Amino acid sequence: MTRLRPGVLREATVDVGAIEDNVRHLRRLTESEVIAVVKADGYGHGAVRSAAAALAGGATRIGVSDITEALALRRGGIDAPIVAWLHAPGVDFTEAAAHGIELGISSYDQLQRAAAAASADRPVAVHLKLETGLSRNGIPPQDYRMVFAEAARLERIGRLRVIALFSHLSNASADDDRAALRAFEDGVAVAASVGLAPPLRHLAATNAAIDLPETRLGCVRIGIGIYGLSPFDDRSSADLGLRPAMTLRGAVAAVRRVPAGKGVSYGYDYRTDRETTLALIPLGYADGVPRQASGGGPVTINGRRHRVVGRIAMDQFVVDVGDAPVSVGDEVVLFGDPTLGEPSATEWADAAGTINYEIVTRVGPRVPRRQVSQ
Ligand SMILES: *Cc1c(COP(=O)(O)O)cnc(C)c1O
Repeated sequence: MTRLRPGVLREATVDVGAIEDNVRHLRRLTESEVIAVVKADGYGHGAVRSAAAALAGGATRIGVSDITEALALRRGGIDAPIVAWLHAPGVDFTEAAAHGIELGISSYDQLQRAAAAASADRPVAVHLKLETGLSRNGIPPQDYRMVFAEAARLERIGRLRVIALFSHLSNASADDDRAALRAFEDGVAVAASVGLAPPLRHLAATNAAIDLPETRLGCVRIGIGIYGLSPFDDRSSADLGLRPAMTLRGAVAAVRRVPAGKGVSYGYDYRTDRETTLALIPLGYADGVPRQASGGGPVTINGRRHRVVGRIAMDQFVVDVGDAPVSVGDEVVLFGDPTLGEPSATEWADAAGTINYEIVTRVGPRVPRRQVSQ
């Protein structure tokens, strides 16, 4: 029987070797520079370790959502280029600039704030974000000329260095993404016409980087792929040559033999229909196990598959293991690498009506992360 180390109730192992291999694979596949996206604590895997592993696998730059995340990476010893692209209204970029954080810029106001954070000897590096259809942030097409001309002026006087033009795709369809690519190319032409020739352009995240080669532009921003998960409904990690980095485990906390007709968990949504064995698993929605997967989420115990029965509670849930030999302390895998027979994060996503991104990202702070390398 597989057992967790004594005293461990629950843990998520994060295989940094998998992250490194996934980045190496995606670099080769896309023949592009990789910006490794480690926002939201590295999609739950740990931002610093994910960034370090991605850089070891050949990523050349790290992407995060906001400056707080970028500064935490610097404090964690990540000295590679880092770009952050979502900013508070009225933001002061001084500290970010002092730590060499590159800024994604979505408006004239942000551009001026970036320039204001430059010091005499150090321009602030910016990536100008173009709105090309997603309707989130980004400079709108009617402002391209005005903002780009101002960026070019600020670059000439040494306050800014424009490193990149970038945008983000909807993945609504290949045609929608191609339309966004055309809108982006229009923006690139406007930038060139006012004298901006940044060395980088980046548009594709994992989905388009794999499926739509014309969007790669020599530089791709990869999030979900570096963690070894597939952004596609119809292809698994293994189909893409990726290895899931996170495995979420618990130790069976109690085992109880019960007769037919026994109600299980709050509301008795499940009642046994025969004499059977119930095993208590010490993870709940506080740990990120989605309550919506009540009565459905998959686990393996000693290599055998079982399903959650009854409601998932804050700290625990129950599986009906039938007559399988299960003991207190046996290891339960909620999700990991399906090629090893473990359930996938995608199966939990399907059981909860969400996407695998959310399943790994929502693993709660009460679950210790243990770094491994395989
Ligand atoms: C999150 C994010 C990414 C990464 O997307 P994946 O689908 O996880 O690869 C890339 N770019 C931006 C702007 C993002 O917000």
